Amino acid sequence: YPAKTVRVTVLGATGSIGQSVADLIARNPDRFEVVALVANSSADALAEMALRLNAKSAVLCDPRNFEDLKNRLSGSGIDTASGDQAVFEAVDRDTDLVIGAIVGAAGLLPTMAAIKPGRRIALANKECLVCAGDLFMGKIAAEDAEILPVDSEHNAIFQVFEASHPDSIEKVILTASGGPFRTMAFEDMVRVTPQQALKHPNWDMGARISIDSATMMNKGLEVIEAHHLFPVSADQLDVLVHPQSAVHGLVQYRDGSLLAQLGSPDMRTPIAHCMAYPRRMQTPVERLDLAKLGSLTFEAPDMKRFPALRIALEALRSGGTAPAVLNAADETAVAAFLKGAIGFMDIPAAVEEALSAFSAKGKLAPAATVEDVLALDQEARVWTGHWISSRAA
Ligand code: NAD
Ligand code: MG
Repeated sequence: YPAKTVRVTVLGATGSIGQSVADLIARNPDRFEVVALVANSSADALAEMALRLNAKSAVLCDPRNFEDLKNRLSGSGIDTASGDQAVFEAVDRDTDLVIGAIVGAAGLLPTMAAIKPGRRIALANKECLVCAGDLFMGKIAAEDAEILPVDSEHNAIFQVFEASHPDSIEKVILTASGGPFRTMAFEDMVRVTPQQALKHPNWDMGARISIDSATMMNKGLEVIEAHHLFPVSADQLDVLVHPQSAVHGLVQYRDGSLLAQLGSPDMRTPIAHCMAYPRRMQTPVERLDLAKLGSLTFEAPDMKRFPALRIALEALRSGGTAPAVLNAADETAVAAFLKGAIGFMDIPAAVEEALSAFSAKGKLAPAATVEDVLALDQEARVWTGHWISSRAA
């Protein structure tokens, strides 16, 4: 990959994705130069990472733990700052590669602000595309920036997608592990606890995406994400349940060829692909031993036990801002489930109710600006919060 050192900015540095990025940078200290690390509130983790990676600056979005960060980094020569404005200043600094790894719609403004001419955006924060895909991709094109998908399924598809002849592509297939409740009876799913839902069989991820994997909302969000990343219609996107998580994505061509990318379920492979693209870099990821694995199995998703997937696919088809309302309601419902305020199957119920309420109010027309998207996002969170309190009462 590029002979020169790549300057990197990491948004969401202390999260699950951010930690994997840091691991790869630490293994290749001469290849990367860390311009800025941005996190929400984990001062200790951010300070430790900034020192380990010899970052130029460390920024907290939430100012409450700023004193801790300043103390931990005093005398290190690393700049520190906090607050929304500081985040925007951090993405303004000259850089080559921005890793978008904030969780949720909170990542929308800073990640959009990071889109600048000639930059490469390695995007993990799928909510940017779910909530404002047209605006986000529009800015990528307008600024002549480049987007590379970090999300494992999209990264897999990107690796086997022959972009020079998109008209020969019949189908794009995203695999799903099925999560911890793939084979559980519907009656039992109603009673699952946050601890059970957080325990993903194959992947180690942040809390929100782990719950979304258990409801399969995550796969729904990913189909919407794929719709923006690749020039294919909603009809050409399929989901295939594959419990071993060895095959991450597939593309079917009109000659009958089916191309797939395989690898261990370790995010360092897709992240490394983005960081070294179009070359390849060394990773310590456990190599996929197909003989040891023995067999790979596939099955169709069950939309009855996983209504979140159906609801997300419907939101994609209805278009406009339906996916933004879907995401806002889901973020709110997942947080309530984690606090024990609602049951597991109330998550898709809350999302479906929010979508029908906003549809009835005529509020799902396409948004003209990101500010409009964020206003709607806020409104959908408030609405869902009320729905949850009335249900809990
Ligand atoms: P996480 O919860 O582990 O980490 C989130 C990061 O975002 C933290 O660094 C946190 O400090 C930061 N953050 C949160 N709110 C913020 C705010 N308002 N401003 C600035 N920073 C903020 O999440 P994760 O699992 O690493 O996921 C990050 C994104 O990547 C999500 O969009 C997720 O869907 C996507 N993703 C994750 C995985 C995975 O394996 N974890 C795989 C594919 C895609
Ligand atoms: Mg994924």
